[in-house]
Amino acid sequence: MKNYLLVGAGFSGAVIGRELAEVGHQVTIVDSRSHVAGNCHTERDPDTNVMLHVYGPHIFHTDDQEVWEYVNRFSSFKDYTNRVKTTSRGQVFSLPINLHTINQFFGKTLRPDEAKAFIEQQADTSIEDPKTFEEQALRFVGNDLYEAFFKGYTQKQWGCHPSKLPASILKRLPVRFNYNDNYFFHRYQGMPEHGYTRLVEGILDHPNITVKLNTRFERSQAQDYDHVFFSGPLDGFFDYEQGRLGYRTLDFEKFTDKGDYQGCAVMNYGEEEVPYTRITEHKHFSPWEEHEGTVCYKEYSRECGPDDIPYYPIRLVEEKEMLGNYIALANQTTGVSFVGRLGTYRYLDMDVTIREGLDAARQFLSHVERGETVPAFFVQPL
Ligand SMILES: Cc1cc2nc3c(=O)[nH]c(=O)nc-3n(C[C@H](O)[C@H](O)[C@H](O)COP(=O)(O)OP(=O)(O)OC[C@H]3O[C@@H](n4cnc5c(N)ncnc54)[C@H](O)[C@@H]3O)c2cc1C
Repeated sequence: MKNYLLVGAGFSGAVIGRELAEVGHQVTIVDSRSHVAGNCHTERDPDTNVMLHVYGPHIFHTDDQEVWEYVNRFSSFKDYTNRVKTTSRGQVFSLPINLHTINQFFGKTLRPDEAKAFIEQQADTSIEDPKTFEEQALRFVGNDLYEAFFKGYTQKQWGCHPSKLPASILKRLPVRFNYNDNYFFHRYQGMPEHGYTRLVEGILDHPNITVKLNTRFERSQAQDYDHVFFSGPLDGFFDYEQGRLGYRTLDFEKFTDKGDYQGCAVMNYGEEEVPYTRITEHKHFSPWEEHEGTVCYKEYSRECGPDDIPYYPIRLVEEKEMLGNYIALANQTTGVSFVGRLGTYRYLDMDVTIREGLDAARQFLSHVERGETVPAFFVQPL
């Protein structure tokens, strides 16, 4: 039996900790926050009893059968389909751009093949090899749809002009030529019935696991354990000695109302003149519940400062260079592995986080069994 320390009680720390505990190891999990579940934390609003997604809305979706069965072991799930609307130019449209959006936007009644041909006419085919987000959008949807649905939203979300962002941010063909407005294509989609925090508490509920909240990890604590899994920020582990990796952070302006404020869970605002990117109405994330009151969050995106919560890694050229330096430092550090979205400086959906957590624990145990050095990363961040 060994003693392992997990830094962070989000999905990364919880899943790895549980796997190690189940084979008989003692596991301590520390988190500087007052709750488990990391950024997926949910709690009931004391006034309305609405389940709040405190750090922004989270919808579980996956094609990974094992991960789906894993989360269903710890919580019952309710069906949930993510459907997003956007307000632009004084109208409400359906997202992702689909046949309804195209017909409404251009005032037409096109069928799929007609719409395809029409959008091809709109597209800027002179762009052969799109390098930037803007070129990618112009190449595939043309200027009108780009301006209404992508330009302002992207500028607000990333704080820079779409011509400065890589084409890879935008999916190859961000348009559907049918009326399917389900945001995700995955086989499984749903919401944990009692929220994500209850789900993570279930994962952590094991006699070999001790959770210490309101506890910040200091590097000197590593010596008390046989190995540390760090799911906090990679640059933070090294006291930012190579500089700070760039992130976007979010501010949420909470307001309450009676009844139904906007009739849907997520309403985007595509125009730059509206300072927020979207309004989320949290009771609609639990459509099987009934509440008289309602709670909404206006969501604003901005550059992450030293005291802010890091949300989206920026990963442009400068950050990638700095990331390389931190990877080199991590590879020289023994007894610590870096995991999760912050430890590897990548955007990860929850299902990917869980998959990587399960794989990391398995790889770790097999390294230990074979007496091999444990790597700093189980997934390469670059
Ligand atoms: C706005 C937003 C919306 C999202 N929506 C979805 C969605 O709809 N569907 C989906 O699948 N995914 C979504 N995600 C992704 C999801 O949030 C991540 O997959 C998940 O949070 C990753 O878990 P993690 O454990 O790696 O990181 P985290 O959840 O960030 O957990 C890391 C934990 O480490 C703790 N910590 C950090 N440093 C220290 C330290 N020094 N000492 C002690 N504790 C420390 C932190 O307090 C935190 O609790 C979304 C992400 C964002 C930003």
